[in-house]
Amino acid sequence: MPDIIQLLPDSIANQIAAGEVVQRPASAVKELMENAIDADATHIKLILKEAGKTLIQVMDDGKGMSETDARMSLERHATSKIRKAEDLFSLRTMGFRGEALASLSAVSQLEMKTRLPDEELGTLLVVEASEVKRQEPVVCDKGTSISVKNLFYNIPARRNFLKSNANEYQHIVDEFQRLALSHPEISFQLIETDSIEYDLPPGKLSQRIVSIFGKSYQEQLAPCHEETALVRITGYLGKPHFAKKKRGEQFLFVNKRFIRSNYLNHAVMSAFEGLLIESSFPFYVLFIEIDPKHIDVNVHPTKTEIKFDDERAVYAVVLSAVRQAIGAHNLTPAIDFDADVNIISKLTNASAQSKEVYFEERFSNALHRSNLDNWEKIFEGDENKQIMRPAEALPNVQTLRFESALNQSLETPEEKACFQLHNRYVVKQVKSGMLIVDQQAAHERILFEKFLNQIKKKSAQSQQCLFPQPITLNAADFAMVMEMEQEIEALGFRIEVFGKNTLVVNGVPGNIPTGREKELFEGLIEQFKINQAELSVPLSENLARSLAKRASIKSGQVLVGEELRALVDSLFVCTTPNYSPEGKPTFFIFEMNKIESYFR
Ligand code: ADP
Ligand code: MG
Repeated sequence: MPDIIQLLPDSIANQIAAGEVVQRPASAVKELMENAIDADATHIKLILKEAGKTLIQVMDDGKGMSETDARMSLERHATSKIRKAEDLFSLRTMGFRGEALASLSAVSQLEMKTRLPDEELGTLLVVEASEVKRQEPVVCDKGTSISVKNLFYNIPARRNFLKSNANEYQHIVDEFQRLALSHPEISFQLIETDSIEYDLPPGKLSQRIVSIFGKSYQEQLAPCHEETALVRITGYLGKPHFAKKKRGEQFLFVNKRFIRSNYLNHAVMSAFEGLLIESSFPFYVLFIEIDPKHIDVNVHPTKTEIKFDDERAVYAVVLSAVRQAIGAHNLTPAIDFDADVNIISKLTNASAQSKEVYFEERFSNALHRSNLDNWEKIFEGDENKQIMRPAEALPNVQTLRFESALNQSLETPEEKACFQLHNRYVVKQVKSGMLIVDQQAAHERILFEKFLNQIKKKSAQSQQCLFPQPITLNAADFAMVMEMEQEIEALGFRIEVFGKNTLVVNGVPGNIPTGREKELFEGLIEQFKINQAELSVPLSENLARSLAKRASIKSGQVLVGEELRALVDSLFVCTTPNYSPEGKPTFFIFEMNKIESYFR
């Protein structure tokens, strides 16, 4: 039998390789734009016709190519970005495989104009299906312009596989946005069939975010910053109540490369835990910078996954960075702490500036002044930044008393007074102005933290019901209740089976008015099921949320004297006082200067 194995001609080898690198117009956009970025361009223009199906042109003002390099750039495995295997582990460029231009020129009609800054003339190359049709000197701008025309014109199967223009365009926009976000110092334009869709001036990341997503984002961003020996994290987070129903606007970059990572996304989402409206997704743009030797980007040409050698460590830093940004950066308005800082400075005569200092002073004072053992130290991030926080979630009665005592001794009579506005809000004077608390949202937050804490610590008090009533459930609900009996009891309920699908509630959580236990219990189960369908939170959190929602003070309910004060005091000892469990703001401070401005 004769030998039958042959080497494939380059054109076919390139076409096969192209299948990997170029799947759709958006992949061509990504490759061409990354090349422009790697060429140190300061301005990059993307021109499309028919969502890139007939034309994708990327123009840059980068370093350009010599005549020889222009020709070489089209060869497979031709790259200026790495020279030896070790270079893979110190990668600072977007590209390195040397496959993109070879692949693109195999599956399109490609035209390149490129000129080195110091040369007078540039080079024009026209290539079709890997075959160079023309090469000649040309007068052109410095930098490089590459047009990919009629992508997949020579592979009908692939061309037919392309989706609608709207769909392909959306993929392009995704790539465009990612690159524009990770390079705010470069100006970008996107022009689709003669209409300017994006025109992004160079600037800071926050400005870039606003020019891509719109003005409304301006108010919603909180900076995030954390640095350890291993990684540096920077970027912006959107406020919890600004979270969207769709996951789309979450961007994670590692060394400026967009990546997808369920694991790290989980770190971000964990930091937001308890703050978000049901099944909503907060906006974030986070950059992780790490020594390239700790990562492996060489997984697949088009995959957006990368490997870290110590993913857990990165997870921990991301979690702590985002937590800190949410807490410290007053996604929580800064105002609430101003008021308290004044209290502290009365105590210590120190000018406490930041929340950290505030906590430190406040709670070390608390420790000095009494032997409360329910304050615990929480170490956030590295150990040098010890922050004192109230014991997890809501403090117990003792703490509340201490709080009130502390406040009462320091507050003036005006500051002590609270009143109810339209049976919905509690209004109170604070140092920086006027505090307005939404009674329902605030109470949901207070109860939520309290219940969650009780479930975790199994510390709930229960009060005996005077007239226990039987409750009959359907079989499925009954089985569900039995399954989480322990957690329900940990909340403070005392339940007992009383025949088929029937139970009796003998006790309810200590802090809930008795007399409506049947309604409350049924409401709890109902709410639990709703949450289960819409949220993916742990069982204990769902229970705590559900009961908080059902048992909370409602809008429209009349509150008097001590109730008003207690509500406000309890809110501000919550771990996260600013939002209800569903992400609604709980309070607002009308600042003095704002009030004054109305009378000028
Ligand atoms: P890679 O980016 O992986 O090196 P490409 O096929 O994308 O591979 O590009 C091959 C080479 O062509 C690059 O290494 C670079 O030297 C050169 N090149 C490509 N695009 C440009 C550009 N816009 N400006 C300057 N040089 C470029
Ligand atoms: Mg490239």
